[in-house]
Amino acid sequence: MKGLKIFNSQTRKREVFRQNSNKRTGIYVCGITPYDVTHLGHAFTYVFFDVVIRYLKFLGYKVIYVQNLTDIDDDILKESAKLRKNWREVVRNNSQKFLEEMKWLNNLQPDFYPRATDHIKEMIEIVKKLQKNGFAYERKGNVYFSIKKDKEYGKLSKLSKKKMLLIANERGNNPNDPNKKNPLDFVLWQAQKPKEPFWPSPWGEGRPGWHIECSAMSQKYLGETIDIYGGGSDLIFPHHESSIAQSEKATGQPFVRYWLHTGMLRYRRKKMSKSLGNLILIDDLRKIYSANTIRLLLLSHHYRSVWEFYKQDLQKAERLADLFKRVWFLSSGTGRTFNVKSYEKRFFEAMNNDFDTKKAISVLAELAKKTLSANRSMSLADAKSFLVKTFNILGLLIEYE
Ligand SMILES: [Zn+2]
Repeated sequence: MKGLKIFNSQTRKREVFRQNSNKRTGIYVCGITPYDVTHLGHAFTYVFFDVVIRYLKFLGYKVIYVQNLTDIDDDILKESAKLRKNWREVVRNNSQKFLEEMKWLNNLQPDFYPRATDHIKEMIEIVKKLQKNGFAYERKGNVYFSIKKDKEYGKLSKLSKKKMLLIANERGNNPNDPNKKNPLDFVLWQAQKPKEPFWPSPWGEGRPGWHIECSAMSQKYLGETIDIYGGGSDLIFPHHESSIAQSEKATGQPFVRYWLHTGMLRYRRKKMSKSLGNLILIDDLRKIYSANTIRLLLLSHHYRSVWEFYKQDLQKAERLADLFKRVWFLSSGTGRTFNVKSYEKRFFEAMNNDFDTKKAISVLAELAKKTLSANRSMSLADAKSFLVKTFNILGLLIEYE
């Protein structure tokens, strides 16, 4: 189980992955806010973390994987108002589609798939603790986290306060909220607004803030300190920064041991996002391509890289999927054994080097090509079984059609 190095976004260093003392590895990945369809950018994040989980399990770690569903949030309420639908219906439709698409992509199911609205009680408990510890204040039924009280705020994103405010305002922060002491203070609990869903709380009826949802759900299933916490790099600030602040000030314990963030996918020279309208939908891709093609396309990029999607890359990935398919049909001879040692070494070196799937796939492609051109009398049993093993690690299916 030795040798795995992970780039920790907090220290910005490649660190040796060490098991915690309870010998169980907890992974939390921020799930979707189901107000819209799933696009290739989402798939990049969830396919990558699927490989992380598969690889840790392969190495012998006892993994517990939690991915949440942010089923109450401003975006959901805005979208349901626009569609004139009940917010629960919007959540149900989009989350069902998302889960189907993740299944189609051959992602393993999380061990726990908590929904925010099922954990309001746990969120309230954290907010109460923060108030008691002097890091939160209440104004007119709203509770805010006071960032002035937290000297460590910013330790993940390492942004200046000015930059933080700029980004926070783009992501739903209201700097002009008259109830706030500081424009950067974030909402832990918000008082009910007309026509919005609400839950009872010690501060009156209302609903939780976005960040507190993930702190409550991750800690409920994985304890106060999470081994690996992941998501897209657009979540580093304010979501993950604020999650660290509120979790650590409530428990007094480090919140996360290793932070992993996936790079942003771009299309037509801009980040793939709903607001820019440059989406490539999984629902469209699955009508034409196989899940292996999509996984090979995604995993052929290093997870931390920011990359541009080009349609011709799909054809490239398809050719790669076909190359592997041809190997399964090869008949193996009884002669000398095709030696896979050097491929094995390079594959695992790549995976241990911060999950370099791009390199790992290129090693497998090289092996596949070599087996196809190998002398027909050679025994390919080792090569094939190595490919089966690595296909399982990368979540690729053995395709015969
Ligand atoms: Zn989250």
